[in-house]
Amino acid sequence: MCLFCKIVNKEIPSNIIAENDDFLAFHDINPKAPVHILAIPKLHVDSFNEVSSETMAAMTKFIQEVAKETGIDHTGYRVITNIGENGGQEVKHLHFHILGGAKLKWGHFSDADPKDFL
Ligand code: 5GP
Ligand code: ZN
Repeated sequence: MCLFCKIVNKEIPSNIIAENDDFLAFHDINPKAPVHILAIPKLHVDSFNEVSSETMAAMTKFIQEVAKETGIDHTGYRVITNIGENGGQEVKHLHFHILGGAKLKWGHFSDADPKDFL
């Protein structure tokens, strides 16, 4: 069973913010911003590559609710999902990072020269 499935099953403790039958939101253990929440489907999906559009529709609503409950819906926030090796995905259970609480930087994404791919 993967790490986030264990969090869903409460085998590993987490700081839960919101939960319904299908989704769970909890604080990231290594926050990159004042608000750094992970939102996941309870049923295991490897990544955004495999998720159904039906799950994504419900996931969108859940993320919007979490943003509202946290109070970052008015100040703004960022939603990120990393996919696979190049995407930097470390936990192979679909998760959306919800980042906010401060003005976020637009990061340095790659050392590769984008012109090499044109
Ligand atoms: P990824 O790099 O896969 O997109 O993000 C995985 C995220 O999960 C990281 O931001 C990391 O800090 C977080 N994380 C890893 N292990 C745990 C854990 O046991 N508990 C919580 N709450 N977050 C975790
Ligand atoms: Zn899982």
